[in-house]
Amino acid sequence: MSMREMEKREPVTRRAMIAGGATVATVALFYGLHRPLEVARAATLRGGGMPATVKIVSFAADGSKTGVADVPTVQKPDDEWQKQLSELSYNVTRHSDTEPAFSSTMVDEHRAGIFRCVCCATALFSSETKFDSGTGWPSFWVPVARENVSETSDGSFGMRRTAVSCRRCDAHLGHVFDDGPKPTGQRYCMNAASLVFVVKA
Ligand SMILES: [Zn+2]
Repeated sequence: MSMREMEKREPVTRRAMIAGGATVATVALFYGLHRPLEVARAATLRGGGMPATVKIVSFAADGSKTGVADVPTVQKPDDEWQKQLSELSYNVTRHSDTEPAFSSTMVDEHRAGIFRCVCCATALFSSETKFDSGTGWPSFWVPVARENVSETSDGSFGMRRTAVSCRRCDAHLGHVFDDGPKPTGQRYCMNAASLVFVVKA
């Protein structure tokens, strides 16, 4: 890459050079320092390696199961997700961020209905299995259909946790722990920013 191309791609570098009278070596150091961050950001981007289709259970507005079908997975370029979602929902679902506790009124949502994926509208949880965990995040003791979520081992932040995501679009939803109530003993600790509540019709 020529210096001119580098300047076009990275105007900050150009400003840094002017301000500091930087040498080529400094520019190289700048790039060397910043590249790992860019790589790390790209590595957290979700949706890679998804299958073309997945088996999803669908639910009607009254909460009844309407069938199981192979449907195409929902895959979009990162900038399209960014346009579609709020900043918080984008950071949570596409970059595995966690919303602050008690940041959503969904924690106290007690009406009957279905909690769907904010990205692709897949049914994920039912009000019938929602419980008050006291954590400040919407909590459920089971997904509305096991087929609709995927669970993967997550070793981030030095913790061994099980991350939960939407099977159809790979949106990060939250984590599942084994300190939940009966009958499953599971606690699906979800980010409200990854869900949309649809009141029972
Ligand atoms: Zn989804």
